Amino acid sequence: MQSLEAELERARALDVRELADAVEAIGFECTRCGACCKSEADDPHTATVFPDEVRRLRAASAAGDADGGNGGDGSDGRDGGDRPETGGSGDADARDWRDMARPVPYGLTEGEDGPEGETFEWALQTDACGDCVFYEEGEDGLGACAVHEDRPLICETYPFSVDLDGTSQPMGEVVDSIGLKGPSSADDPGDPEGAVRAHECEGLGRNIDRADAESLAAALKRRAVRELEEAIGVRDAYEPTPTGPGEVVVHDSEGAKRPDGNRIDGRVEQTGAPDDDPPA
Ligand code: SF4
Ligand code: SF4
Repeated sequence: MQSLEAELERARALDVRELADAVEAIGFECTRCGACCKSEADDPHTATVFPDEVRRLRAASAAGDADGGNGGDGSDGRDGGDRPETGGSGDADARDWRDMARPVPYGLTEGEDGPEGETFEWALQTDACGDCVFYEEGEDGLGACAVHEDRPLICETYPFSVDLDGTSQPMGEVVDSIGLKGPSSADDPGDPEGAVRAHECEGLGRNIDRADAESLAAALKRRAVRELEEAIGVRDAYEPTPTGPGEVVVHDSEGAKRPDGNRIDGRVEQTGAPDDDPPA
């Protein structure tokens, strides 16, 4: 296994044209089935979202509250890897951190007072059915995303991911992959093990035009770099934190936090105005 720093360099060196070639070869067009936004069997939807992405969702939610929604008609979002936008919910409470995100449940144990322990990172919040809280379904049965323009990178790039150590996988199983040659020269033979992976999705195998494939490829590269920067940040910021009964601590790249997004040392207020500048 490479160091996270070495993987970050590989991510930064990814060739977007080569990623686009792989996306184009696998093929994809979203059918708006909603499977990647909903719970699976008894498992609630779990998609990692980073702290800056949560703040962006809060800002988008607040803007949706202010203008009554962002006015999408659900017809313009088929440009690769995403569900179309819908209007905002109009719910003023939607600006709370906990309405956007929840602690990633992996690693937590179920105590007498509920989940407890330490965990890493955040997941998109879910509703009572276990679906992403931003998922909406029209009367036509087609799925839509209430925060389409501000959805996290993991949603923007579904059903694809890049196979690098330190990056996260979406929920769907890997069903296809295409190897990347990477940079090649006499001194640098590239990495034949790097790959673009495709995850379970009924839209795979459909034609995608080159512009959409390149747009998706660029987002894939941004996501790989962002995930590795986050992983390095978490590793460097992590300090073991004892938890009491019913207490959950979430470690992200900005430190140890409570489920409401506030740091446990009180140094950074995460649940203030949605347009707060992110900490340096
Ligand atoms: S599973 Fe695939 S086809 Fe269905 S909504 Fe998600 S991206 Fe679109
Ligand atoms: S944020 Fe939007 S695209 Fe992402 S899982 Fe939720 S509804 Fe789906």
